Amino acid sequence: MIQTTKKLRCHCGDVEIELHLPNGLEKLRRCNCSICARRNAVVGSVKLENLKILKGSENLSCYTFNTHTAQHYFCSKCGIYTHHRRRSNPGEFGFNLACIDGIEIEDYANVPYMDGKNNHPSDHQRTP
Ligand SMILES: [Zn+2]
Repeated sequence: MIQTTKKLRCHCGDVEIELHLPNGLEKLRRCNCSICARRNAVVGSVKLENLKILKGSENLSCYTFNTHTAQHYFCSKCGIYTHHRRRSNPGEFGFNLACIDGIEIEDYANVPYMDGKNNHPSDHQRTP
């Protein structure tokens, strides 16, 4: 049975988030868009209802830019990106894989980049 619950925390530990992962870690990716390139995090996805802030919501800052659709959250104390509401799928949060307890980030060195810079799913109408 893959179904798991994982805990995600920022560096200082003020922010703790619980992830419910019915299919395990999925949709892992990097992205080369302007913000993802700078933070260079490996990101996974969960449905909105599968992410619960356990503590520290008062320490989370939200950053938006451009279309202001995506909401990028980070700990205002230690500065670590924890999760974001996705622009290409507002029904999902992306989360920072490296914040999950027990993750060995070097095991995810080969997670591919999606081309969010030139080909963001929300910037184009897909033609079949
Ligand atoms: Zn923190």
